[in-house]
Amino acid sequence: MTTGQGSANGTGKQVEDVIVVGSGPAGFTAALYTARANLNPLLLTGNDYGGQVSITYDIENYPGFPESLSGPDLIERFKAQAEKFGARVEFDYVSEIEFDHHPFVVHTSGGQEYQARTLILSTGARPRYLDVPGEKELTGKGVSYCATCDGFFFRGKDVIVIGGGDSAAEEALFLTRFATRVRILHRRDKLRASKILQERVFANEKIEMLWNTVVTEVVGEGGKVTGVKTENTVTGESGHLATDGVFVFVGHLPNNELYQGKLHLDEEGYLITDRKMRTNVEGVFAAGEIQDKVFKQVATSVGQGTAAALITTRLLEDIEAGHKINVTVDPREFDAPRVHA
Ligand code: NAP
Repeated sequence: MTTGQGSANGTGKQVEDVIVVGSGPAGFTAALYTARANLNPLLLTGNDYGGQVSITYDIENYPGFPESLSGPDLIERFKAQAEKFGARVEFDYVSEIEFDHHPFVVHTSGGQEYQARTLILSTGARPRYLDVPGEKELTGKGVSYCATCDGFFFRGKDVIVIGGGDSAAEEALFLTRFATRVRILHRRDKLRASKILQERVFANEKIEMLWNTVVTEVVGEGGKVTGVKTENTVTGESGHLATDGVFVFVGHLPNNELYQGKLHLDEEGYLITDRKMRTNVEGVFAAGEIQDKVFKQVATSVGQGTAAALITTRLLEDIEAGHKINVTVDPREFDAPRVHA
């Protein structure tokens, strides 16, 4: 078993047993479990502390909290629990990782350079843009990707929500606290959102559904959103809707910039992991939405962070017992069981 204190590697540099990259539910859970294994983990938060959870107003489906709680509250609880057992949390952004030799080297924008025997990558995902004219220019001027952050500014105003998933439904419901009218524009004639959210949306008098409709342009005047140009996906008919705000919830993109050309990504850019949360480089694990495009729940990210931490702990025991990390594992062997068959 490793000491949890790290050790010199011959160059006089401290080598961390485990560095966790990212501060969402997966990252903090991985830090908690590796801390409880006495590995003294270092968690580097990134710029978006808490990830997407921190911009979620109300979390109703995380087990153990029947009264629901806010995203920032949950993140603070995750952090406190991880720190209670010895995790170190640094507010720094990882700018580069050297995966091609062992120990791995992690560089941060704060000018730090760390060495690590193992890494748990949990950099999550970010909102996807619509990619239509006017969207970029009017972001922060009526175009938003976070109702929790910006909803307050639309008190007494009219807003449009784009998307048909859980996020669109949930955020549209949240916006009804402020806006006089919330129109959801969805490209199909059926929501993808869960039944319970659909029922709430349909029952809410402030919400109107505009089916089979996409936005082709966000229009503004005097540096403020004034409306959107639309197209009907069935008839091809174009239109214009006047509005004060445009909230975009059309899915997510993985935060994979650190891994491009270095680790195996799937065709949509998510890290490929096996059932033990292993990437294609031995000693490098991933958890949460950076490798999960299917479930994307706080509860599943927590589970993946747990699994990554448990396997990391076992690998560190093997390293302690003399196992040498092979960073050049043949990609074709990726799915085959390696250290812990
Ligand atoms: P999502 O489920 O991928 O839904 C994205 C929505 O945007 C879909 O309805 C999609 O239409 C639409 N869309 C995609 N590209 C578009 C485009 N270019 N123009 C117009 N519409 C477009 O994403 P999400 O709602 O952010 O949810 C992501 C994950 O987080 C899901 O697994 C969800 O269950 C989870 N989540 C859960 C909760 C909760 O449990 N309370 C809350 C938020 C999110 P189509 O339907 O036609 O594909």
